[in-house]
Amino acid sequence: MSTAETEPRPAAQPQDPQVEVLTARDVPLGGPRAMTVRRTLPHRSRRMIGAWCFVDHYGPDDVARTGGMDVAPHPHTGLQTVSWLFTGEIEHRDSLGVHAFVRPGELNLMTSGHGICHSEVSTPATTVLHGVQLWVALPDEHRHTARDFHHHAPRPVPLDGGEARVFLGTLAGDTSPAPTFTPLLGAELTLHPHATVTLALDPAFEHGVLVDHGDLRLAGTALHPADLGYLAPGPGTLTLTNTGDTEARLILLGGTPFEEEIVMWWNFIGRSMDDITRARSDWMTGNRFGEVHGYPGDRLPAPELPTTLLKPRGRVR
Ligand code: MN
Repeated sequence: MSTAETEPRPAAQPQDPQVEVLTARDVPLGGPRAMTVRRTLPHRSRRMIGAWCFVDHYGPDDVARTGGMDVAPHPHTGLQTVSWLFTGEIEHRDSLGVHAFVRPGELNLMTSGHGICHSEVSTPATTVLHGVQLWVALPDEHRHTARDFHHHAPRPVPLDGGEARVFLGTLAGDTSPAPTFTPLLGAELTLHPHATVTLALDPAFEHGVLVDHGDLRLAGTALHPADLGYLAPGPGTLTLTNTGDTEARLILLGGTPFEEEIVMWWNFIGRSMDDITRARSDWMTGNRFGEVHGYPGDRLPAPELPTTLLKPRGRVR
């Protein structure tokens, strides 16, 4: 009998990959009753995970108290928006002419390409609003592509110890038909109480685990709700453990490291201050972004440009 078997098992095995924990900051979105979101990307120590460049997590919010979501028509360029709800319903209208509803477990993927504008309003039927709002940066060769929109309701894929809904990319044998412009993964996972789930990963991807609720460990590291745990490329598997007595839920993001430097300002992604200045002036005076029809109100004016130069930044600060 080996003595090693009687020794206590260390919390993190030497072969466990290093997990970097990105904690959220609270950001008020404005408006009279101001919904607040928990933002983990961009983070001061890491700006992107794959092409994922913006991660907002919100709720569960009682909309009678927060006023829910009411975002007037506003523009985007150089990105895709990923809307994913756990609870509630959001009405979407855009300048492609799409009028759609975001519902729990259903992906709404909007590709801005060169320019789109849209409004997002939680519906009167919504009492609790709970979900994530994510952005994906488009690579330079595709950032001026045509505006586009896709909806996809992934079937739940059983895991040994939980369930997955793959809304972008491939995981656990399921592949989303929604188009991306760089290799990307996005999925909602639920883990049964005290379950450990090991998933096969693309070793070329870096990954992020955003905890919605539950007592979760990623590769031996404890994550709290709203934390985003980061794993560098390399491991061919990822191990998640729910140490609690109730279900845990998380969003798994991944992608190949995005090597281009980008400028993010307001709702725009470009490569230079000039790109941003042009996008702003096109929103204020031009017709680049088209029109949203059916929103009862005015569109959002752009904030003033910063007086300091916006500089392109890479994925790690
Ligand atoms: Mn938007």
